[in-house]
Amino acid sequence: MKTSQLFRHSRLRLAVWYTLVMGVILSLSGLGIYRSLVQSNWKAMEREIESIAGTLHDSLEPMLPPSENPTTVLKRILPELCLVGQPCHSNPSLIERHTTGISDRNTYYLRLFNHQGKLLAFSPNQPDNLSQTLNPEPWQTITNNGIRYHQFTIILHSSDTHDLAVNSSWGYLQLGRTLQPFDAEVQRIQIILMLGFPLVLTSVILSSWFLSGLAMQPIYKSYQQQKQFTANAAHELRSPLASLLATIEAILRIPPSQPQDLTKMLHTLERQGRRLSHLVTDLLFLTSLEGQSSSKGFQSCCLNDLVSDLIEEFSELATVAKIDLIEQIPDEEIYVLGDESQLYRLVSNVIANGIQYTPKKGQVFVSLKTKEDTALIKIKDTGIGIPQEAQKRIFERFYRVDSDRNRKTGGTGLGLAIAQAIAHHHQGDITVKSQVEKGSLFIISLPYRGSIIT
Ligand code: ATP
Ligand code: MG
Repeated sequence: MKTSQLFRHSRLRLAVWYTLVMGVILSLSGLGIYRSLVQSNWKAMEREIESIAGTLHDSLEPMLPPSENPTTVLKRILPELCLVGQPCHSNPSLIERHTTGISDRNTYYLRLFNHQGKLLAFSPNQPDNLSQTLNPEPWQTITNNGIRYHQFTIILHSSDTHDLAVNSSWGYLQLGRTLQPFDAEVQRIQIILMLGFPLVLTSVILSSWFLSGLAMQPIYKSYQQQKQFTANAAHELRSPLASLLATIEAILRIPPSQPQDLTKMLHTLERQGRRLSHLVTDLLFLTSLEGQSSSKGFQSCCLNDLVSDLIEEFSELATVAKIDLIEQIPDEEIYVLGDESQLYRLVSNVIANGIQYTPKKGQVFVSLKTKEDTALIKIKDTGIGIPQEAQKRIFERFYRVDSDRNRKTGGTGLGLAIAQAIAHHHQGDITVKSQVEKGSLFIISLPYRGSIIT
């Protein structure tokens, strides 16, 4: 599979997973919200029925007639109710008076049963075809002519029957209401959810695609860098290997009568071999630095000693190159926490560059000082300098400003990449300021651990 295809495929899979997970989460939360809305509406409605029924119950009970012949008395105390078997006129009823201001007057209906469950009286707005006998369940939901009703039944005691141990119940009060407004509300919520879900899902799909693209970006970038790095490494290895093979072929062709040529060639071969081994070691070192994340094995390192050792080491090279190598080290000892050999390598790579890229009679200054909580090592030269546009790239692996001008130095372009990797590994940094033909200034900053005045 091609790389671009692979990345598109991975992005698509990521987006599908995002969508699935988000879709499930959103559906579940939508369902939860829907259920809680319906339940709270239902509870509120039941509370309302209960409180109206309670009020009616309390006002009716003291006036209830003896159970022997209740209908005539009922007619007297509740003239607005219709009595079973008698003509019914629709007047504003007791139930309607009690429900005024709470809800729609026609929403509620009232029915009274005797203690045997026989219907005695009912409000005129009760639904048609309701059963004449009582179902004593406190809460019931019934469907009548396609309309749902919810009703609540409560026992009534008359003041006379309270003392009678035989049958203390006078009858039952049943209060019901239509569920039409409730069902309409539930339907409205369902429509909102059903219309909203595809909209939300579309935005989830779009944002998933966008987010997966964002997530893939660093991976893609890192992949491209790795690819570039492998290509560069292969390229860098190919030239020394080709010249190595060419030298070996030449050696094989040397007649045994010319041993002096053989020695010269073998020296070339050794140089090329070393260069190759150097390159491979550098690459391995860079890779191992990437893998190390912790500061395990770090110890206190004295930068004064480190810099003066390096100055001593490079003095011979500087003398040969006819360059003044000048050091500026303070009396106080500056300590940082780190890997000493890595820090040596970091500073030596930069000093080596300073000497390499400074023409004869030039100068390279190495100074050490502290600023706030940072130790600063400055390496300044009066060399050929680095063009502005190249300054951003010199820390890249294998980058050389101009291969032609560096040919005689035989560098691989890994020196500064290694220096930067070491500085970052020590929570430090390396920066450059340079002007072509004037010189360069490299500043290495490392977290400062303290100092001892000598
Ligand atoms: P290596 O150090 O691996 O042997 P190199 O010196 O070419 O090879 P780097 O040290 O990474 O590689 O430097 C990258 C490039 O930056 C160099 O090729 C050089 O062109 C430029 N450069 C680095 N230091 C200086 C400097 N002090 N003055 C001018 N140019 C520099
Ligand atoms: Mg270098």
